[in-house]
Formats: sequence, C-alpha cells, structure tokens
Amino acid sequence: MSLRSVTAPFVRPRRGLRRLSRGLLAGLDAHPKLISAAGVLCAIVVLSGTTAWLTADRAGRVERASERAQSVASLVAGGLSGNMNIHAALLADMVSAASDPAAPMTDNVRERIRFGQAISHELLDDAFIVSADGMLETPLDSPLDNALTAKVDLRDRDYFQAFARGASQGLYVSEPFASRIRNGRRSVALARRIEAPGHAFAGVAVLVVRLDSVERFISGFESRDVDTVRVVRDDGLVLANAVHPDGAASLAVQKGSGGAIGHIDPASVKCCVAHISGAPLAVIATPSTAQTLGIWRQQVIWQGALALTFALTLALGSMALESALRSRHEALEKLREISLTDALTGLSNRRALDSRLDEEWRRASRNNRQLSILFIDIDRFKLFNDEYGHAVGDEVLRSVAQAIGGQARRMQDMAARYGGEEFAVVLPDTDAQEAAQLAERVRHAVEQLRIAHAKSEAGAVTVSVGCATVTATPGIEHGVEKLLEAADAQLLVAKASGRNRVCASVLEAHA
Ligand code: GH3
Ligand code: MG
Ligand code: MG
Repeated sequence: MSLRSVTAPFVRPRRGLRRLSRGLLAGLDAHPKLISAAGVLCAIVVLSGTTAWLTADRAGRVERASERAQSVASLVAGGLSGNMNIHAALLADMVSAASDPAAPMTDNVRERIRFGQAISHELLDDAFIVSADGMLETPLDSPLDNALTAKVDLRDRDYFQAFARGASQGLYVSEPFASRIRNGRRSVALARRIEAPGHAFAGVAVLVVRLDSVERFISGFESRDVDTVRVVRDDGLVLANAVHPDGAASLAVQKGSGGAIGHIDPASVKCCVAHISGAPLAVIATPSTAQTLGIWRQQVIWQGALALTFALTLALGSMALESALRSRHEALEKLREISLTDALTGLSNRRALDSRLDEEWRRASRNNRQLSILFIDIDRFKLFNDEYGHAVGDEVLRSVAQAIGGQARRMQDMAARYGGEEFAVVLPDTDAQEAAQLAERVRHAVEQLRIAHAKSEAGAVTVSVGCATVTATPGIEHGVEKLLEAADAQLLVAKASGRNRVCASVLEAHA
C-alpha cells in the first residue's frame, strides 16, 4: 500500500475543516456583531445551565433529606409501637380485672404491670383505677400515704371527662398534664373505660406515661437529617418534641411546660409521618433544611460565582473581540479608501479608475449599453509650473480636480486623476452627445475658475478634453483600452487644434 493511499483519508477531512474554519472566520470578519451575539448567547447558556443544575440539585437534596427523615420517623414509631402494644394489653388486663368490684386490681395484674414497667424504657410510670366519682383508687404504688391518695380528685382530667360523658370504648390518649402524685412530672395518660353491667360507667383504667422518658427515647435517635421529631396525637396535639440544636448530631428535648408543646394540623403534614401501632399516635419528623440547604447554598455561592465569572468573561471577551474586529475592519476600510484615493486632489486614483472601468465595461457589455469616457488635460501646465512654481501648480491641480468632480454628479459617474495633470471621467449609460455636453461643462467650469496663466494662449488655466463613447457588446477584446485610446486620440486633436476645447468621437466597436 502506498503512503499516498494511507494518508489520503486523513488529509481530506483536515482540508475540509480548514476550509470550514476559513469560511467561519471570513463570516465573523464580515459580521463582527455575530461574535458578541454568540458570546452573550453562550454566557446565557452557561448561566441558565448552572441555574437549572442547581435547582435540580436542590430538589434532589430536599427529596433525599425527606427520605432520611421518613426513616427516622419510622424508626422512632417502630420503637414506640412495641411499648404501646404492651401498654394496650396491660390496660385490657386492668379493665377486665376491674369488672370485679371486690378486687379491682389483682396481684396478677400488678405483677404484669411491674414487668411492663421494667421493659418499657421507663416510659410507664403509674397505673391506677379512677372510680366512677373521679377519685384515684387502687394505685400500683402510691408515693403518697393512703389518706392523701384517697383524696386525689381526677374529675377534671380530660380522659375522665371523656369516658364519663360516655365517649369511646377504645384506647384514649390524654392531653399532657402535670402529675398530681409525682410532683408535677409531665405525663400523658393511656386510658380505657371500665363498665358495670348494662354498659354503665364504672371508672377508668389509667396507665401514666412519662413524657420526659418519651422525649429521652426519641432524642436518642442521632440524625443530622432532621430538625425535629414530634410525637403527636391523631388530632395533631404535640405530646413530645425533640429538636436538633444547630451543630449537634443528636436531638435535644425542647423544654415545655406541663401542657402540650403545640398543635399540628394533621392535614398539612404530607411527609415523614409514621403511625404508632396500638395507639392513636404518630411520629412526625421534619427534614433538616438548615443542614440540607446549608451545603447547597455554599454550592450555589461557589458554582454561581464560577459560572458568573465564566459568563462575564465570555460576554465581555466576545464584546472586546467584536470591538477589536470592528476597529480592524474600519482601519482596513480606511486603508482601502486611501489606496484608491489620490492624495493631492482627493479624487479616485488610477488604480480605482482601472478597476471601475473594467467593472463598468463588463456591466455595459452584458446589457449592450453605452459607455463614455472623458480625458482631461490641463493646457500648458509645465509652463504654469515654471512661471508660478510647483506649490501653486499643486493648488491649481486641486481646484481643477474640484471643478471636474463638481460636474460628474451622478452616482454612477466617476472622476479620477489619471496621472500628472491629466484626469478622466467614466460615464456609464451615457451617449456621445451627453458625454460631449458634460465635457463642455467641465471645460467651462475650469475656465470659470479664472486662474491667471500668463504663458497660455487663453491667459488663464484651461483644459482640453478628449471624449469617446462606445456601445459595449460581449466579446469585444481590450474594449477598455480601445476606449481610452480613442479618448486620448481626441485629446490630441483638441490640443492640436488650439487647446481649451472638446473633441469627441464615437467608437465603432467590433468583436
Ligand atoms: P500640454 O498643453 O501639451 O498638455 O502642455 P503641458 O505642459 O501641460 O504638458 P506636458 O506633458 O509637457 O507637461 C505636464 C506637466 O505637468 C509637467 C509637470 O511639471 C506637471 N505636473 C505633473 N504632475 C504634477 C504635480 O503633481 N504637481 C505639479 N505642480 N505639476 C505637475
Ligand atoms: Mg499631459
Ligand atoms: Mg498638459
């Protein structure tokens, strides 16, 4: 295999790429605004992309924090469910024992309650029966002496009032209260109604749960992901509450008074809820927004600053590039203008004349149109210079150029300095008669400058004009040169026949 055949496939795409990049550069050079537009667009894409990413990241973090808070709620609820099931069974025992008025709390029941106390993380505090008239009776252990115990009136307790009114047959969880027999210790009662035959109200079986133990239990769950863990009754009453102190891993108990810590509308809580089986209770965990959003906010600051810096650099850089390209474009335009302008007279120079003549010839020959040219030469200019000096001669050149330019007024006309003291005027779409008329106006305009010239026949600066017209057709070779030669020939005729005059001819062009 030859080297050529091996390298060919790699060369071709590279050439294509080069052509593409050259085309791209040329396009940008012609429309520099595209650069800043592209730069600003990229900056917008960078900023909106970063914003979208950060928004999605925030949503993801919040969702993950919710999931973790949900598992904390489930764990706490699971732990409390075991205890609640034991408590519910003990209450059932107490209710069935209390149906015998002779022995409302048998030794057997007392034993079981003591066993329940031993295995319930110190949650279970007291157990007693409240008589139908609201007085405390048959406590498990009485810290008060018997005389005082007999006087503890519990008629105002919500659980007593609920059952005395004939409410629910099931398990009732009371509002938090300050215990009257345990020095005001914050507690809740788990209560069940005791009925005499015929469903008459015969008292209430009560288990007292220590809220400080409940709160110790829930605050034992270490988690940076939750702000608070609350144990609430089904109606939203908050019984126990543990909050996340900023900067610590574990939860701390929020000190409340003897009553409830607050109330939560159960309908407003949509996530991180776990129900405690065996009781009308639930655990609600609040995801830690400070923890979750703290890290996210730091990310926003860093990534936002980075994206902003990048976007600003991109936008400002592209604007600076556009302005540099524009300046370069303007400089090039100025250079081009200079390269096509005669420095002394301000008219177009020979180079501009040549290219314009070629262009007009092509256009005229495409459409079989007439093209005229004037050849203008200042009379006796050498003698003028000799008489008045070159500097004055330059001034005259400028004035004559201005007079010529003042007559070639149509957009398509072009007046140029051909060289030395010679000028030319290109007149597209102009017939011989119009060209001769214009030539005469030029001659007259120079004459009217009334610049004294002691060494000329007219006594003033004058010009002779040779004028040629052709109907351009395709296929004529060297048409421009032939037209110039014809105009030059007419100029010579004008010079020979006395100067300060116009001589014109129509060129018969043959392909
Ligand atoms: P004719 O009427 O036959 O045209 O005579 P003429 O003297 O104008 O022609 P000739 O060709 O002999 O001289 C042209 C003169 O134009 C010579 C030169 O001094 C003068 N000239 C050419 N360019 C410039 C210029 O840029 N400035 C000045 N001041 N004079 C110039
Ligand atoms: Mg001359
Ligand atoms: Mg001359």
